[in-house]
Amino acid sequence: QSPAYDSDNIFAKILRGEIPSTAVYEDDDTLAFMDIMPRADGHLLVIPKTPCRNVLDASPAQLEAVIRTVQKLAVAAKAAFAAEGVTIQQFNEAAGGQEVFHLHFHVLPRHEGLPLRP
Ligand code: 5GP
Repeated sequence: QSPAYDSDNIFAKILRGEIPSTAVYEDDDTLAFMDIMPRADGHLLVIPKTPCRNVLDASPAQLEAVIRTVQKLAVAAKAAFAAEGVTIQQFNEAAGGQEVFHLHFHVLPRHEGLPLRP
């Protein structure tokens, strides 16, 4: 069991419109916006609109909605940034590298021989 969802997290504030973000896609269940510290050109984040801490506590419906949007935007971002590949990244709990505790997937367009920025 993961810790309870904390609605003070930064992505919950983005969902409530309390802090700005550069949205690139939205549907009934998911939102995508640009990462504020991009590690690649076109680095974006996909989140469910409903409360969810990470994959460890996601419902099947949340997972399905998010991964469908991730796939859609991976294809779109690869074309938009003339990338040769796409890295999809996801972290769970602090020990797993998670910093913002609302479920999110990173979509990173990649070019041959170009490492991710730190
Ligand atoms: P993670 O939890 O996946 O390790 O990292 C959180 C990600 O959210 C980081 O890539 C970070 O740059 C991004 N991030 C943190 N705060 C904000 C914010 O206020 N706005 C946006 N658009 N991205 C953020």
